[in-house]
Amino acid sequence: MRIADGIHRIGDGTVNAYLVVEGAEVTIVDAAMPGHWSGLLAELAAIGRTLDDVRALVLTHGHSDHIGFAERARGRGVPVSVHELDAALARGELPNPAKGGGPIRPLPLLRFLWLGLRRGGLSRVKLGAVATFGDGATLDVPGAPRVILVPGHTPGSAVLHVPGRDVLFVGDALATYAVTNGSRGPMIAPFTADPAQAIASLDRLDGLDAGWVLPGHGDPWTGGVGEAVRRVRAAGPDGMGRPAV
Ligand SMILES: [Zn+2]
Ligand SMILES: [Zn+2]
Repeated sequence: MRIADGIHRIGDGTVNAYLVVEGAEVTIVDAAMPGHWSGLLAELAAIGRTLDDVRALVLTHGHSDHIGFAERARGRGVPVSVHELDAALARGELPNPAKGGGPIRPLPLLRFLWLGLRRGGLSRVKLGAVATFGDGATLDVPGAPRVILVPGHTPGSAVLHVPGRDVLFVGDALATYAVTNGSRGPMIAPFTADPAQAIASLDRLDGLDAGWVLPGHGDPWTGGVGEAVRRVRAAGPDGMGRPAV
């Protein structure tokens, strides 16, 4: 699905992966669940590209619902990278650091779990190997995303800024949809390891401008980075999975 010029989304908004298209070349941002592989191939075909045009798969963090098809892509020659502080998590060497998911409503959570069953996202998804990047790096991949480390959701959670496309990929640094209860609006994502740290990390986005804030879960936010961050702060550290109103 086309989001903006050169930006495409894979998935229905519950769990998202994205494409950045730069000329003939493509960067994938996050890898959703293993079963989203067919959606990846379909989206590439829809824009006249193939896996051979994909130069990189960049992960916002090491959670299994973001590295779904990454190992399969790696097997097809696509370099995969993640922030160095999440590499062990992405390789499945560490347990998920999240202790809980915040408030739950059964139907949306069941929907997420059902998606996981259908798409294979709840099985033990991990990477055999992964390259790493550090805070502040500008990645030498299509779109040239700049890395902003925002620890809290996981220790190595990274926001990827693509100024040339007016896009900020926020991963789960904030979500606009809570898979645990169906709430919508900017909030601390469910399954955040350290919500207070996650909110403090959003200071690093102050002053950033992006017309498109694209989360790992939920629809695009077009109300400005500052307003998204303001709402997350307003809900406070107890606001995991609860948007401010
Ligand atoms: Zn996550
Ligand atoms: Zn996630």
